[in-house]
Amino acid sequence: MNLGQFLRDVPDYPKPGILFKDITPLLASPEALAAAVDQMAALDFGEIDVVAGIESRGFLFGAPLAIKMDRGFVPIRKPGKLPWKTNRIEYVLEYGTDAVEIHQDAVKPGQRVLLVDDLLATGGTMDAACQLVESCGAIVAGCAFVISLDFLDGRKKLEKHPIEALIRIA
Ligand code: AMP
Repeated sequence: MNLGQFLRDVPDYPKPGILFKDITPLLASPEALAAAVDQMAALDFGEIDVVAGIESRGFLFGAPLAIKMDRGFVPIRKPGKLPWKTNRIEYVLEYGTDAVEIHQDAVKPGQRVLLVDDLLATGGTMDAACQLVESCGAIVAGCAFVISLDFLDGRKKLEKHPIEALIRIA
């Protein structure tokens, strides 16, 4: 199934000059949603022990993928959302900084983790998430996206990890 037909382009959201890739039509289609999860499960990253999703749209694909792969799911969240002891990585945005957190005991040393998000743009968010996983002693087995905006060079930032996207936009 060609999943690209289920994306809606929204110009100038959330700010002027950004062409936002709206995944809600894909989520609304039972066939497309199932196909996205099936296609992610078919990607070959070697053995996977845990699936981790990045807040918030990474949860929408990461959790069903974890069920499909018969693995547990780990949330990587925005600051202040996780109740237990956390590790935090800050990263630079166009204006200012942001951060992501993980529970210190969410992944174990040596575990192979598959990280999931909806979209790869500059790669800053996923790069920080990979550093978080590694801060717990676990291994980044790969990074899976529904969409990658390849013209933004996020793949370069993540080049030490295997990267796959279901829809690549040149
Ligand atoms: P980045 O850290 O630059 O790779 O940005 C990735 C994060 O920002 C993802 O979690 C996306 O959900 C979101 N994002 C960035 N650019 C877009 C876009 N053009 N359309 C939809 N989501 C985007």
